[in-house]
This record gives sequence, structure tokens and C-alpha cells, in this order.
Amino acid sequence: MIERLCIIGTGLIGGSLARSLRLAGQCRDVVGCSRNPLHLQQAVELGVSDRVDTDPGQAVAGADMVLVAVPLGAMETVFRALRGQLADGAVLTDVGSAKAGVIEAARRGFGELPGNFVPGHPIAGTEQSGVAASFAGLFQDRRVILTPLEQTSAAATARVRAMWEAAGAVVDEMDPAHHDAVLAATSHLPHVLAFALVDSLARLGDSDEIFRYAAGGFRDFTRIASSDPVMWRDICLANGDAILQMIDRFSGDLEQLADAVRRHDGERLQAVFSSAKQARDRFVDKHS
Ligand code: NAP
Repeated sequence: MIERLCIIGTGLIGGSLARSLRLAGQCRDVVGCSRNPLHLQQAVELGVSDRVDTDPGQAVAGADMVLVAVPLGAMETVFRALRGQLADGAVLTDVGSAKAGVIEAARRGFGELPGNFVPGHPIAGTEQSGVAASFAGLFQDRRVILTPLEQTSAAATARVRAMWEAAGAVVDEMDPAHHDAVLAATSHLPHVLAFALVDSLARLGDSDEIFRYAAGGFRDFTRIASSDPVMWRDICLANGDAILQMIDRFSGDLEQLADAVRRHDGERLQAVFSSAKQARDRFVDKHS
């Protein structure tokens, strides 16, 4: 049971966690914090927060669990504002989509890595943002990856694990660099490709006509290009090396596919498409 949960960044992810924990009866009091008072008022009206504060240092007073759920580019500013402000025994965690960058931000913000800091990342989300888009079931049966560090206390990790499990998630632990490489492949590259495809099509001569005739496949493939541009800018900046490795690898594979089209190599094209179909069907079977 969390007595007082402080969520800094009461948007889609922070708001959804607050709602899930409330629904599970695992959280007595929620303090919301962000920059815009109108967003905070909305969080209260939606029943996500009991109290709100625009000052992170004040918002965390008396909280036994603090979740930082702001965009990656704002993490260091928030950590800096929390320096010396956390209650004794409070546990601090985050939800940032790239871990090495958040850990560096915490080191700079606090001057050293606090033993009560448990870096985390829920593998769940939608292309929407803001507290109005938050909902209680977002983490149900979804994975959350924790990347505790050498200095992270085992008790703090156990509390963060229990919090996510109470929200319905399945929790894994991983080394931060490994997390960043895995997510570059499974999430960051697909988002970059979706943004690039839609941007490229939108800049074609008559893009209205292209989009008019776009059907379900286009919608499925490009849904994630409606995601928040600021969040994805920050992810690309924070996990640049791992994303570039994936883009290089993918560009090579795409060039080989283009070459097969150029050479009218139907056998090669069918082999690639069959192997992709098998891999996706296996994945869907296993995870549905
Ligand atoms: P979001 O809905 O836009 O929420 C971000 C929240 O942070 C808003 O409440 C915003 O409110 C607040 N904020 C922004 N800058 C701030 C600052 N300097 N100080 C205090 N509050 C600030 O975004 P989200 O989708 O929840 O993403 C939040 C984090 O979750 C990101 O780090 C992202 O990498 C991670 N994440 C996202 C997803 C996803 O699919 N969306 C999945 C997993 C992890 P104000 O505008 O009022 O300040």
C-alpha cells in the first residue's frame, strides 16, 4: 500500500498509473505535479489527483513513492528540483523510454545516484498524450522493465515492483544498456519509420489523393506516427547510438529488398515476405 504517491508529470502514463493504483485500492493519496495549472485542475476533475502543485520540490513533501513521468528532456530539471526534498524512506522511480539518459540525468540532477532511485519503463502506451487520455487498464498484463543499478537498494526495487504488479503489469529486470538496445529495435525504430513514411508521403505532389486512397494497411502501419513529436524527439536524442545502429541495419536490409525488386527477383522477395509473415504470425500466436 502506498500512503502518498506523488506523480510528477500527470499525463498519459503518470495519470494511468494513478488511476490503476486507485482502482486496485493500493494508494491512499495522490499528489499531481506539472507545469500547467489547467492540466493539474483537469487531473483533479478526472479523479486522478487529490491535490496538486506546480513545484516538484513542494509536491513530494511527505510522499512515500515518487514517480517521475515527464518527457525525457525534462528529467534532469525535475531531478534537480527534487534534490534534498524527498521524505526519509521515500522511493523514487521514473517511466522514461530510454534508460541510460535518465540515469545520467539523475546523476547530474542529484549530484550522485540516489540509492532509493529505481529506473523503470512500462512497455505500454498509446499515441495519445495528456491526463485526459489516461485510463486504469493501460498496464494490465503489459511488461514493465526495471533497470536497478549497483547502488539501488533491493527494498526500493521491491516496492516499485509491487507497485507495478498492483497495476496489473508483469515486471522484468534488465541492464540499462540492454534495455536501450532492445527498445531501439522493438519500439524506437518502428516509430522513426512510421514518422518517416507519413512525412515522405505527405510531401508527395498530391498528398490529399494519396491519403484519400490509403486503406486499413496504411492506418495500421502508421498509427504510431500520431504520437507526440516532443516525446519522440527526446527519445531519439536520448537513445541515438542504439537507434542509429538499428537504422543502419534496416537501411541495408531495405536496400537489399530494393535490389530484389530492381532485378525482378520474385524468389528473393517471396522468401523475405514469407519469413516475415512466419515471424509475425508466431509472435501474434504467442502473445495474443
Ligand atoms: P504526456 O501525456 O505528455 O505527459 C507528460 C506530463 O509531463 C504532462 O503532465 C506534462 O504536463 C508534464 N511535464 C512536461 N514537462 C514537465 C516539466 N518540465 N516539469 C513537470 N512536468 C512536466 O506524456 P506521456 O506519454 O505520459 O510520457 C511521459 C513519459 O513516459 C516520457 O518520459 C515517455 O518517454 C514515457 N513513456 C511514454 C509512453 C507512451 O507510449 N506515451 C510509454 C512508456 C513510457 P504540463 O504540460 O502541465 O507540464
